[in-house]
Amino acid sequence: MPTTLRLTRLLLALLCLVLLGASVAAQTPAGAVAPDEAEQHLQAARDLLRAERTREAVGELRTAVSLAPEREEIAQALLEATRRPRTITILAAVSPEFRAQGNWEEAIQRRVTFANDHLRPHGITLELQDTVVWQPALEMSDGLSCVDELMDDVPRGQADVVIGFVRQEIRRPRAGETPDRRQHMVGLGPSFSGYAVICDYLLVDPTSGATTRMREPFVLETFVHEIGHLFGCVHVTGNSCMRSGGGAAPAYDYDPENAAVLDATRWVDFRRQIGCLTVPELERLAAAYEALRAVPRPDRGCEFYLACTYQCLGELERAAALYEVALDANPADAFAQLNLARIYAEQGDAERATEHFEAVIAIGQPEYLVQQAREELQALGG
Ligand SMILES: [Zn+2]
Repeated sequence: MPTTLRLTRLLLALLCLVLLGASVAAQTPAGAVAPDEAEQHLQAARDLLRAERTREAVGELRTAVSLAPEREEIAQALLEATRRPRTITILAAVSPEFRAQGNWEEAIQRRVTFANDHLRPHGITLELQDTVVWQPALEMSDGLSCVDELMDDVPRGQADVVIGFVRQEIRRPRAGETPDRRQHMVGLGPSFSGYAVICDYLLVDPTSGATTRMREPFVLETFVHEIGHLFGCVHVTGNSCMRSGGGAAPAYDYDPENAAVLDATRWVDFRRQIGCLTVPELERLAAAYEALRAVPRPDRGCEFYLACTYQCLGELERAAALYEVALDANPADAFAQLNLARIYAEQGDAERATEHFEAVIAIGQPEYLVQQAREELQALGG
């Protein structure tokens, strides 16, 4: 029942936060500006652009913008560089179960080729660089922990992103039985993380033992959808590959609002996540998310990422208000709880900060986030 699978696709999540503080600090022009140094980075970037080494050039220009944020010429050079198309290299981490299907390499390549038809209009081309064996211990029903496991197990090396391909069997629900949505997650691509896991399900008939594969159109849609998440796209309810609900037919194209997100984040450095973006880039991203708030959406993912973006920009009150909106919809979002706690701590509101640090601890996962909350709560008390 592929339709059931489609309905169960859960929201990505929210790993983009760890580097936020550092990013704001790096971009604040704290008095001593070094124009010569900024000029050197600009010149280096121009050389790199001539040599078609855009990724490195963008890095140089981001440094230059951070050093001399008032220089229009540098901001303009960065904007122009990030308008260039980008090739994203993929390291595929493939489970033994996925490999057990004879044509697994072709199955992956088919998704990449298909996705490129829908990504190229947005200046993105995927390229399969290499494959490794990956044996996950966890199932997709463990959600984010499954992606965490991939991050722990598979270093990205020279690749831009790592995509885990796994295959699991699920029992077809009997008549009248309500399927457990959490067990049917077909993909997870935490925004800006550069890591995603895709799961092909085999539906097993509990009576006959016969298996049914996911239908190809939905397999392809899932892939395009998760790639969108990697670039910060969020769920919408309209006709878009970023919708999270069901539809009579699959959708493969990005809606105009999410396309604006892709345009703002195409040159994200997945190693540094959203923290790599400079003030003008963050402002473009905030504008894209603000536009998304005006369209019908099934969840508050947009509020969360907009909050992250404002937090990076140092607009803490706006960010806090948006985290509150996200938490109204989902109080168990440990990432939003932690970020909000940090904002209140920074604003000197120890009482509210404590409340939200304690909420993270009560949620209990992911473990590393709980650990951070404990440490920061302790520091607050001290
Ligand atoms: Zn999704």
